[in-house]
Amino acid sequence: MNNFDYQKAATVSDVVGKSTFVAGGTNLIDLLKYNLTNAATLIDINTIGEHHDILEIEDGVRLGALATNADTAYHPIIEQRYPLLSRAILAGASAQIRNMATNGGNLLQRTRCYYFYDPHAPCNKRLPGSGCSAINGYNRNMAILGTSENCIAVFPSDMSIALSALDAIINIKSEDGERSVDFADFHRLPGDTPPIDNNLKPGEFITSIDLPLKGFAKNYSYLKLRDRASYAFALVSVATGLELDGDTIRDVRITLGGVSHKPWRVKDAEHYLIGKKADRENFSAAADIILQGAVGFAHNTFKIKLAKKAIVRNCMMALDPSTQLPGAQPSA
Ligand SMILES: Cc1cc2nc3c(=O)[nH]c(=O)nc-3n(C[C@H](O)[C@H](O)[C@H](O)COP(=O)(O)OP(=O)(O)OC[C@H]3O[C@@H](n4cnc5c(N)ncnc54)[C@H](O)[C@@H]3O)c2cc1C
Ligand code: SF4
Repeated sequence: MNNFDYQKAATVSDVVGKSTFVAGGTNLIDLLKYNLTNAATLIDINTIGEHHDILEIEDGVRLGALATNADTAYHPIIEQRYPLLSRAILAGASAQIRNMATNGGNLLQRTRCYYFYDPHAPCNKRLPGSGCSAINGYNRNMAILGTSENCIAVFPSDMSIALSALDAIINIKSEDGERSVDFADFHRLPGDTPPIDNNLKPGEFITSIDLPLKGFAKNYSYLKLRDRASYAFALVSVATGLELDGDTIRDVRITLGGVSHKPWRVKDAEHYLIGKKADRENFSAAADIILQGAVGFAHNTFKIKLAKKAIVRNCMMALDPSTQLPGAQPSA
């Protein structure tokens, strides 16, 4: 870790156009320790006087980027109107980390690919052009969808999988003004530029995340499959929201996590399901659409079958959310 100056910001204007910001620090401090990033000046954004709240707005709910993951998951509005989001956040990390981690930071956390953190291993994300150690190395946790010959890393956030399913919008401030980005357009596939995880530009600041009114509070489920029942990243996760008319699907969202460099949502699969009966057979056909093009590597081909089963199981669980017990997320 290099020496750096430390400053506390009081307003958003103090930070736009600058780098590097620290929020909860649960990812950034590790990146500094591993020399994966360095900062001449570290700007603490927790001292900014706004963007810490969960607020009702005309078209839904606004999550402050500086609100913690814990405060967001346990907020009564989120628990009651967006339980899918609450459930996904609580499936991530540990209580201590969720108490520190912020909503903005969660969206920007970096991959957990082991080779990315190992300075002796070639890694195109850390050192462009050096190669990808994971493709022919130990790739059990890596991606099966949207990979490139340059990188097969996955994006590890749980919260983002639910935000994708909920069609969230990210509000961003820069020196040029403000802009909003649909969640689907925020994270990127690795392509030829594995170092770039998302479309946030240098010096831009996430102020908040908006949730549209539709929260799928009646029929939802978040399923996270992992090697340990807690405190582990997903091998595969699924967020499902269903809107039903009797047993017919009126609207549906399905996003997969743990399988790609970004939350993986296939709208063709959702269109396929609309107007159909909410049953295992149709969910299974939708899962086939979602997994079209999936390719495994030496140690992670099992994820293709696991993801298919997880989608079907999670959609069936969404028919009766009481099947989800707190703290009873199954291991793989
Ligand atoms: C042991 C461990 C286990 C974990 N397990 C899980 C898990 O199972 N599931 C999961 O989803 N996550 C998991 N995490 C990751 C954790 O959720 C993230 O580290 C956390 O959400 C990041 O938020 P933060 O506020 O601490 O971000 P920081 O570490 O402070 O910042 C992360 C990045 O975001 C930038 N940043 C932060 N806020 C803003 C903003 N408003 N605008 C612009 N840039 C900003 C920072 O500059 C930095 O680049 C785990 C972490 C650890 C350490
Ligand atoms: S998968 Fe991506 S992050 Fe991992 S070694 Fe390859 S290039 Fe680096």
